[in-house]
Amino acid sequence: MDGGPWGSAAPIVDPFGREITYLRVSVTDRCDFRCVYCMSEDMTFLPKRDLLTLEELDRVCSAFVRMGVRKLRLTGGEPLMRRNVMQLIHSLGRHLDGGGLEELTITTNGSQLSRFSEGLYAAGVRRVNVSLDTLNPEKFKDITRWGQFAQVMAGLDAAQVAGLMVKVNMVALRGVNDDEFDAMIAWCGERGFDLVIIEVMPMGDIGEDRLDQYIPLSMVRQKIECNWTLTETDYATGGPARYSIVEETGGRIGFITPLTHNFCESCNRVRLTCTGTLYMCLGQEDAADLRAPLRGEAGDARLEEAVREAISRKPKGHDFVIDRRRGAVSVPRHMSVTGG
Ligand code: SAM
Ligand code: SF4
Repeated sequence: MDGGPWGSAAPIVDPFGREITYLRVSVTDRCDFRCVYCMSEDMTFLPKRDLLTLEELDRVCSAFVRMGVRKLRLTGGEPLMRRNVMQLIHSLGRHLDGGGLEELTITTNGSQLSRFSEGLYAAGVRRVNVSLDTLNPEKFKDITRWGQFAQVMAGLDAAQVAGLMVKVNMVALRGVNDDEFDAMIAWCGERGFDLVIIEVMPMGDIGEDRLDQYIPLSMVRQKIECNWTLTETDYATGGPARYSIVEETGGRIGFITPLTHNFCESCNRVRLTCTGTLYMCLGQEDAADLRAPLRGEAGDARLEEAVREAISRKPKGHDFVIDRRRGAVSVPRHMSVTGG
């Protein structure tokens, strides 16, 4: 191994010629919220003994960085609820300075950002995605069930003070927040936040009917364009969102449309669960176990081999569908397991 302070290995390329450069890691499936589109209120979580330790998570992420991953996103569940997660984040930050990693980020519900924003910045994190579906505190309670709106607002303030750039993720929910796009665009513009609107995806049984929640983003966009001028840009973050500039605010708005517009052709990512299962596609069941090779030997040869074998099975794309014949769930696992 050579090619830099942490060594390097051959890049990982899937059967369709897509180089895998982006890893999302769910560091815990647990969460302090119970968002209605993500979890049922009485979720059963994975036994703690099945989780990869922080050291194991570091090892597997580092192996991916050696194999060409340049962007690492920690997610969950709520990543900042994992005990001692800052140790992991600080440790992964070592790959940023000339170590191959270009970006280390997290997706969070924002509840813990007051505590952790400074530490995140110190570890090398520069951008965070914060999920916020409404600016109305009562609706926020209805959507998150257990979330505290004021805590998230304080977290967002802390993130900005610490110097973190914020992207707000808003899941479009019919009859719930579909009257708030204008308010959200204006507020994000004032705060200097990017906004990404996400279509609700049929993942996991949540005890509610997804058909009631779903609005196609084509409709959302039409609605938004009645009041705002959107100019397409080629700005890209390595993720599936397509961005436009909102001319009136100068802010960016992105749309993630897994159901109405398939973004699989350019998919460069894979997802690791907190128990070491690698999913090659968010919308497919096929997976590979990395925990056994990780625990099977002190070195990483078997781990790397398992990763390459898994990527050789990366499917061309997903086939999410929300329709009545197939029922509302096309992927049985929850987003909090694979990491959104
Ligand atoms: N807890 C963190 C958070 O909420 O940002 C990280 C994990 S959460 C699973 C990641 C993202 O997935 C959030 O933006 C959330 O809104 C989104 N999400 C969860 N379930 C979803 C679903 N069924 N469809 C679309 N987005 C979903
Ligand atoms: Fe928790 Fe995030 Fe799922 Fe909401 S979307 S329940 S905050 S994991």
